[in-house]
Amino acid sequence: MKSMDASQIKQENQQYVLHSWSKQKNVNPKTISKAEGVFFWDETDNKYIDMCSQLVYLNVGHQHPKLLEEFKHIGEIPLAAPGFATASKAALARKIVKAAPSNMAKVFFTSGGAESNDHAIKMARMVTGRYKIFSRYRSYHGATFGAGNLTGESRRFEVEPGIPGFIKFDTPYLYREVVDFPSEEEATQFYLARLKNQLLYEGPQSIAAIFIEPIPGSNGVLIPPKGYLEGVRALCDEFGILMICDEVMTGFGRTGKMFAVDHFNFEPDMITFAKGVTSGYAPLGGVIVNDKVANYFDDHVLMTGLTYSGHTVCTQIGCTTLDIYQEENLIEHAAKVGEQLAKRLEQLLSFNSVGDVRYIGLFAAVELVKDKTTKQPIIEYGTDYGKDKVGLMSKFISLLSENGFYTYSHESSVIIAPPLVITEQQLNEAMDLFEKTLIQFEQQYLF
Ligand code: PLP
Repeated sequence: MKSMDASQIKQENQQYVLHSWSKQKNVNPKTISKAEGVFFWDETDNKYIDMCSQLVYLNVGHQHPKLLEEFKHIGEIPLAAPGFATASKAALARKIVKAAPSNMAKVFFTSGGAESNDHAIKMARMVTGRYKIFSRYRSYHGATFGAGNLTGESRRFEVEPGIPGFIKFDTPYLYREVVDFPSEEEATQFYLARLKNQLLYEGPQSIAAIFIEPIPGSNGVLIPPKGYLEGVRALCDEFGILMICDEVMTGFGRTGKMFAVDHFNFEPDMITFAKGVTSGYAPLGGVIVNDKVANYFDDHVLMTGLTYSGHTVCTQIGCTTLDIYQEENLIEHAAKVGEQLAKRLEQLLSFNSVGDVRYIGLFAAVELVKDKTTKQPIIEYGTDYGKDKVGLMSKFISLLSENGFYTYSHESSVIIAPPLVITEQQLNEAMDLFEKTLIQFEQQYLF
């Protein structure tokens, strides 16, 4: 491809490309002229620390030398359609199954997160012979029609009226719950009792699956109260419902363990994944299924497929990415640097505009408020998508960016999810920038 200068890149992007989740006339994207590790530079040579790993996928950081090297050789491998056996597909599926909870048996490969959830929906319906699908409010599962129907926030409105039989239930969100629970255990009991009622009202005999992000990501890193996920598992067992964990954002080390479910005491029936499996260097996702689901398809046709299922280039990149996690101990490293992130986040609670901080590993959110005592959010629920972004939160994100801290927000939460390769020193420098920005923000816009 002929090279283009930054102004041509921007101009042609605006002229020819439709950009997601935006009014096209407002689109004014940066370009990345250079990148390395946790940093990237824009067209005017401003340097940013990438504190959201692009869209929470660049776990191994920008321009990882081992992946750049892999790309040099990848063209030598013949492309093979899904019907062929390939070394990279076999090796990657084996590595994923071995890294997943012990009940997991096989992998179906897709090209991304939403497609993975769509295929998990289909498989759950095939295996159970039931049609209803439960998922939660304040979840994001993707933008395709199936995954969009799972999604429990405003980004699903465009697929409504949705598919019959998609039911939503509440995500525990203790900071904003109308009840002030004396303990996590009591919160868990409350949410599980409500869910059980809802399952009974809907008729468990028609419910195929419950989809859950074990730790909802873009909706603000909502850590579940103790025993909650285990309780959902028990309800699934009681009623013969499949439990499907969406680990598109949390999978592959983000939370300081390989999968978020590894922090808890239960095993799901399926795990959907994408992003971290290739660190975003190639578009790949998939569904990991347990032995029960895998066995079902021994004697029943798996009535689904994708042209790029197990794509040679993507699975090869996936293998190399998983090798990097292991060789560089990145997951243990994420857990360790995550402890420092936790300390820095707790300190932010002294700011009047910081209502809550939530974190696990290198996966965190800072929830901003206009008033700490009333918890008035910085942005009212449901008002930040499909609108001109002029509110206080966009001002905060712009200030962060001017200070060289790159991330994004959803509703009132700012996402902090740097590449897992970040050092403690880089993290501290980034959090200094965050604090500096909070001071400017409060002075200029709030108090
Ligand atoms: N599931 C979760 C939890 C996600 O965070 C995302 C994307 O951010 C998706 C699914 C959708 O993935 P994709 O955009 O690759 O379709």
